[in-house]
Amino acid sequence: MFDDGFPASKLFSQGYSYTYDDVIFLPHYIDFPTDAVSLATNLSRNVRLSIPCVASPMDTVSEAHMAAAMAALGGIAFVHSNCSATQQASIIRSAKSLRVPIAPTVGFVGPDAAGGFGPADGKYVFVTESGTLPSRMLGYIAKSDWEDLQDKDVKIFDYMRDCKTVENVPWNYDLGEIEAVLEDRKSDFVVLERDGEVVNVVTKDDLERLKGYPKLGVGTVGSDGEWMVGAAIGTRDSDKERLKHLVKAGVNVVVIDSSQGNSIYQIEMIKYIKKTYPELDVIGGNVVTVYQAENLIKAGVDGLRVGMGSGSICTTQEVCAVGRGQATAVYKVSSIASKYGVPVIADGGISNSGHIVKALTLGASTVMMGSFLAGSTEAPGAYEYQNCCRVKKYRGMGSLEAMTKGSDARYLGDTAKLKIAQGVVGAVADKGSVLKFIPYTMQAVKQGFQDLGASSLHSAHELLYSSTLRLEVRTGAAQVEGGVHGLVSYEKKYF
Ligand code: 5GP
Repeated sequence: MFDDGFPASKLFSQGYSYTYDDVIFLPHYIDFPTDAVSLATNLSRNVRLSIPCVASPMDTVSEAHMAAAMAALGGIAFVHSNCSATQQASIIRSAKSLRVPIAPTVGFVGPDAAGGFGPADGKYVFVTESGTLPSRMLGYIAKSDWEDLQDKDVKIFDYMRDCKTVENVPWNYDLGEIEAVLEDRKSDFVVLERDGEVVNVVTKDDLERLKGYPKLGVGTVGSDGEWMVGAAIGTRDSDKERLKHLVKAGVNVVVIDSSQGNSIYQIEMIKYIKKTYPELDVIGGNVVTVYQAENLIKAGVDGLRVGMGSGSICTTQEVCAVGRGQATAVYKVSSIASKYGVPVIADGGISNSGHIVKALTLGASTVMMGSFLAGSTEAPGAYEYQNCCRVKKYRGMGSLEAMTKGSDARYLGDTAKLKIAQGVVGAVADKGSVLKFIPYTMQAVKQGFQDLGASSLHSAHELLYSSTLRLEVRTGAAQVEGGVHGLVSYEKKYF
């Protein structure tokens, strides 16, 4: 047989650090249709997902709405820990209460708020005790109430409508039941309640929008029948206390959030968690080498998070001169982790479906994403405009701004005298709902798998480790050729 391309074992042992864009797979043989490809996978030893997508524990990515939507899609999100333990636990509870994973398109304010509508408030503003969700509802105003109002300085509390007229339904109503209520009572919205608190508001428009999205597949549901939600913790003693709150809130899996995970602090934390909560899966990281990975595997991790310096907002390689190209890191760590049956999360550097195909085919079981998800409706924060472009803020957890809220522990900088940033604050373009663009992205990933002749992650990994999978490094010119080129103008639309 002619030798064509390189097996991964040879390509990744030449002393170069390659990232996703550096490498390209050679196509193999197709004997099945795209829709026969299954992307079901393991996040960790015991957590099964139907799609390999994970939302990163960052405060501009993963809070309640992202967690509910990712679970509804069959993936999972890790709630960030850049807040108090009680706040983090409350985000987990809220996520589990969002059976219908629609991010609200109405506004929420507290009773002391003056004025009325902002640009992000939709058709209604709801007044709740805390000014947010979940909370006890006090009343609401419609946009017309605000427009008709003479004295715009009056407090909302003084002119809001009584909430007795509102349609309340239990939190666990499904889409069909909500639609029936809206239809029956000729209402424009319903309020979903759990234990006397509003957990979400769904409008007729939201429902129509959701109907236009691809049909949801198998969601990630735990043994309690609620969405599975992950959470990040650190390695300090106070994190043991934090974990107690998270476990009480029903957390299903935890990740120990550290940029360099091979430390005595993390190893002790892994052992503590496995001893105290033997049922809870623990993901360790971040790691990029075989040595780091083996240390955490021996300490008892149920999954490994791989990546150092590959994130879009990250400056670690520039500041610390430590890290690894993400394609090399994923391949090397996965090679050792697969021998122990430990699933790998390829964390950071994903900006298109091709990167996801590369990460999974190089041995990862899931991809963790920050920037890819941060511009979505479900990410925390409001949209704003920058140069006529609708954007959402996205910041590194190692940026100075995020670290002032506590995330410096991830970089072991919380006890240091001088703080050095390892990340930046930026913005990403509006991408619409994850409920729409993730299913399309998964379809693109399936097409990549089909070209490789892999009908599942398991078969992709078999091709990789049997050296059937062949790849090459792309030269600079090959990378230019591999993108759109030579046109005067074009519009890039994926679906
Ligand atoms: P992205 O998907 O945006 O390329 O990368 C997200 C990943 O970057 C996160 O999951 C996390 O591992 C990493 N990350 C998040 N914030 C920072 C930061 O401020 N500095 C560094 N070095 N990495 C970060």
